[in-house]
Amino acid sequence: MNIAGFYDESISNGLGWRFVLFVSGCPHHCKGCHNPEAQDFSYGKPYDKNLYLARIQENSILRGVTFTGGEPLCPQNVEGVLDFLYEVKKIKPNFDFWCYTGYTYEELIARNDPKTNEFLNQIDVLIDGRFVEELKDPELYFRGSSNQRIIDMKKTNELKKIVLLDLD
Ligand code: SF4
Repeated sequence: MNIAGFYDESISNGLGWRFVLFVSGCPHHCKGCHNPEAQDFSYGKPYDKNLYLARIQENSILRGVTFTGGEPLCPQNVEGVLDFLYEVKKIKPNFDFWCYTGYTYEELIARNDPKTNEFLNQIDVLIDGRFVEELKDPELYFRGSSNQRIIDMKKTNELKKIVLLDLD
C-alpha cells in the first residue's frame, strides 16, 4: 500500500481533531475528483506505520483517525488500513475511526470479504459513495456531494440497517 500523504491534525475530515491518512490508488475515476493524483496506486510513499504512529503518539489534541484517499477500501488497500487501525487502537484505545470510500455501503457488504467486513465492524463512521460533480455542494459537512452518506457504523452494525450519523 502506498500513502499519498497525511495530515497531522485536521478538523475538516470528521468530528474533532483528527489524523488523516490519504491512501493511494482509486478505481472510481469520478469526474471532478478532488485528489486525482491519488488515483494512481504507485503515487506517494510506501506505508510507513511507525512514522504515523509516532506522530499520533506525540499529539495530545487528536481524538481519532480518518482514512481517505484515493480509495482506502479497494481490495488492494483493505488489509493495510485494517492493520493501521489495529496499531492505532493499541496506543490510543479511545480513538474513533472515520473512513471515506467511493463504494457504497451496499457494495462493500456485497463483496462478502472477511477483511472488509472486519474493517466495517471496527470503524465508527463511513462516508460512502462516489463523488458526483453535479451534486457537489460546498455547504455539506464532511462530504463533497449530496449522494454521499455519513453512516453511523456502530448503530448500523447493531441494528443491521443503515443509520445516518446524527450531527446535531
Ligand atoms: S472516490 Fe474519491 S479519490 Fe476516487 S476518484 Fe472519486 S473523488 Fe477521486
